[in-house]
Order: sequence, then C-alpha cells, then structure tokens
Amino acid sequence: MEGLTASLAFPQPGAAPDSVKLLLVDDDPDNLLALQAILEPLGQELMLAPSGSDALRLCLENNFAAILLDVRMPGMDGFETAELIRSRKSSRHTPILFLTGYRSDEQLFRGYDLGAVDFLFKPIVPEILQGKVSVFVELCRSEQLLRQQAEALQRTEQRFRAVLEAAPDAMVITDENGLIRLANSRTDFLFGYARERLIGLDITSLIPNWRPPGREDPGGADGSALMEARMNAIRQGGSVFPAEITRSPFDSHEGVLITTAIRDATEQVEAEERIRRINIELEKRVEERTVDLTRSNEALRQFAWAASHDLQEATRMILTYSQWILRAAGEQLDAENRERLACVEENGARLQTLLAALREYIYISESGDQHWTRVDCNAVVRTAISHLAGTITESRAAVECEALPTINSVEILLLQLFQNLIGNAIKYRSAETPRVRISAEMRDGMRVFCVEDNGIGIEPQYLEYIFGVFKRLHNRQYSGAGIGLAICKAAVERLGGRIWVESEPGRGSAFRFELPERAAH
Ligand code: ADP
Repeated sequence: MEGLTASLAFPQPGAAPDSVKLLLVDDDPDNLLALQAILEPLGQELMLAPSGSDALRLCLENNFAAILLDVRMPGMDGFETAELIRSRKSSRHTPILFLTGYRSDEQLFRGYDLGAVDFLFKPIVPEILQGKVSVFVELCRSEQLLRQQAEALQRTEQRFRAVLEAAPDAMVITDENGLIRLANSRTDFLFGYARERLIGLDITSLIPNWRPPGREDPGGADGSALMEARMNAIRQGGSVFPAEITRSPFDSHEGVLITTAIRDATEQVEAEERIRRINIELEKRVEERTVDLTRSNEALRQFAWAASHDLQEATRMILTYSQWILRAAGEQLDAENRERLACVEENGARLQTLLAALREYIYISESGDQHWTRVDCNAVVRTAISHLAGTITESRAAVECEALPTINSVEILLLQLFQNLIGNAIKYRSAETPRVRISAEMRDGMRVFCVEDNGIGIEPQYLEYIFGVFKRLHNRQYSGAGIGLAICKAAVERLGGRIWVESEPGRGSAFRFELPERAAH
C-alpha cells in the first residue's frame, strides 16, 4: 500500500528550497575572501570559518551542502578537522572538498580515507571550483526536495488513513480484481476478521455479489461516480447480513483502485419490513372499514329513504284529513280553529317540501352509476331558466349566459346545479334588480363554471356552512328547505369536482364549481 495516496487530491509536497549553505574553511583571510568571491555567483548562503574549531562549531549549528576545507591550517589542520566533522552524526555524510597546494599521494589517500569527495589544488581555477560546488549544491537541493516530498507523502498517507479510520462505515480499498489492499478497523469489526487476514483477501469472500463499478452501472458512465447497491454480506463464520454498498473508483499510480464503503443495513431492512407489514395491515383495516362503512351507508340510505317515504305518506294523510275536516265541518268551526287548521295544512305542506328535497338529496348523493353523455351546457342552462321562468318574470331578473362548452357529463346533475344556483341567485336578491351571470373558463385543465349575482351576499364565516344539509342563514325572510346547496355539492362530487363560493355581504356572490374533463362512458 506504500505510496497509495500519491495520486490523491491532497496538497503536493513543497518546492525545492531556494538556497543551501556552504562552509568555507581557511586560516588565510585572503583565501577565504577569494573563495567567497568565486562562489558568490552560485547564489547560495556562504559561511566562513578561519579555523578548524570554528568550522566544527558552525557544523553543530548548520547543515551544509558541502564543506571546502583547507588542508594546511595552524593548530587543527584540515584532515583533523574533517575527522571530527565525520565523527558527528549530523555531518557524517556532508561532502568535503579539500583545498591543498601539494599533490602528494599520501595526502590524497589520507583525505579520501577521511571521506573527502574531492581535492582541489591551488591555485584554484574559479570555473572548476564553481562547477564542482554546483554539483553538490544540486545534490543537496535534490536531497532536501526528496526528503520534503517523502515527509509530505507520509503526512498525506497518515491523513488518508485517519479519514479511513474515522469513517462510520467499513471501508475497503481493492484493486480492480477485488483483492483487498487496505481496510479500516470498522471492517474488522463488521466482518469479524483480523486485519492481516483481510489484506490480500478477495472482497467477494465478504460480499459475494461485489463487482467493480462499470459503465453499465447507473451513473457510472464517467467511471467516477459513486455506485450504490444493497447486497448480502458474509461475516467470518458464515452469517449473512444485508449491507448498503457504495463503490467508487479512483486512479492511483498503481492503477485503478476501488473504495467500497459497507454499511450494515440489518436495522434498516427490519424497519422496512415492519413498515411493509404495517402498511399491509393498514390496507386490510381500511378495506374492512370501507366495507363496513359502505354497508352502514347503504343501511342508512335505505332507512332514510324508507323513513322519508313513510313520513311523506303520513304527512299526506294529515293534509288529506285536515282538508276533510275543513270541508265537512268548516262551517261549524270558529275563526280561531279554522286558522289552526290552516296552520296544520301550511306546516304539513312545508314538511312535504322538506321530505321531497331530502329524498332528492339522497337520490343524488347515493344513486349508482349515472348516465354520462355529451351535454351542451347552454341547453342545460336554457332548461333551468325555463323552469324558473315564473320567478324570473316576477323579480324582473336579468339572466345573462356566456357561451358555455359541451362536455362529457350527467345532464340531470348539471340541471340540478344550474337550477339551484340560478334560483338562489334570484331568491337572495337585494333591493336592486337581480342580475345573474353564468360563465365558464378553463383553469389548470379543469372546467370552472360560475353563477354570479348582485344579491345580499354571505358573511365570510358561512361560506362553507351553507353547503350542509338543512343549513340556512335566512330562515324567515326567504322560503326554502335548506337543501339546495347540499344537492349541488353532492352533484358536483358525483361528477368528480368541487364547489365553493366567493362573496361579499351587500355586493353579491359568485358560486363556482369545477369539473374534470372526462371521457364519456
Ligand atoms: P335554501 O335556499 O333552500 O335555504 P340552499 O341550500 O340553497 O337552501 O342555501 C342555503 C343557504 O345559503 C340559504 O338559506 C342562504 O342563506 C344561503 N345562500 C344560498 N345562495 C345564496 C346566494 N346566492 N346569495 C346569498 N345567500 C345564499
């Protein structure tokens, strides 16, 4: 795994250092000056020592790219100085160039014995000196660069491993064939293998269906995206568990490697299974409740139908008998009792109206399949107006109808709607001459019809209330059973739409209902 991280996107190792240090040692100040003058153009840091002991002191404090050492010096000569320099660990490998005026073999042997890398003979030829020192400068710089790079690489690799270790998932790095090159401690924990056993193992021993991400994988066309999947994983010992697998390839200098993140999905799968079971259970309960509700609805409908029928019959009898009494004994009754009988008749008639309306409501809201056809809404409105002709003439109402569409619908339900809404628009008129306007438009794929009036309007808190059965706002002033809008609502709902009203007290109301476009049955 050495150098695995070299090609990852971590900061690159630092650039080469700008300058290195050179130590010049000579007891003759003129020689030192001359050496300094020759080497200055190399642009490196030059340090001067007039004696061997000064040179040793400087070696303690600095790392030199090379040391130029005069052989003949009073006190400690060049060779003795070199011996001491070599004996120190930090300067053991520092290149030493001896400067000497004598070409003696003995000197050369001793010098090379002490680890000299070269000899320069006086008089010094500047170009040769510069050339040789340049080589050591370059060597030193390359060495420093290499060291920095190695350190940076080591830091990057440490960071990479730390990230891998900190990951909440088991992380495995494999080559393209699935051989494990690196794994974090979560992997040992999850699969129960010792780390050493994991390295070199085929990842399919952990996840049998693992395969390298390929072009055919969703999102994997560019070869870089993360590929997620749920697969079975096997612990050491053979127990199988569900796992969420994320595979992600990356290029390294060793070729394409693949990071596979593995998360134990046991809890998630159990939770999903629990939710699935709850959903099935819920669906079953909803189904049972729907059957129960449909049954009790039907029972209620039958009861309401039968009750309203019996009540209507009883009311009819009351009316018939009160008329008989009036006919047979009317002459003998005093004015007060005649009035009482008239009251019985009036209330009986009202009860009959209410029962008729109720039966109509039950019929509209509960009747089975309706007869769907192409319906010309203009014709329906014309019929509604003709049914309301008496009221219209009497109130001098102006009923205006825009061109309406022909739609797939149930004609009888549309007639109920328009007749109730236009009737109300006239009934709940203000002091002004009633004006009713009927229009239609398309809104978000729905047909929206509108019956608008200039009547008394409705307080905002009653805008929904009035669509309930027997819900009335003006009991005394206006006649009615309080069921017309409930019938409208039931009719619209049977047509798959909804109805609402916008109104301002004293200014009028706009009743709107929207119907979906639907194919004729
Ligand atoms: P009804 O007209 O028989 O009372 P509806 O169900 O048709 O019954 O109407 C319920 C109530 O809604 C009415 O009593 C009335 O107070 C109010 N309402 C209906 N239409 C209008 C309208 N166009 N303008 C003002 N109020 C209305």
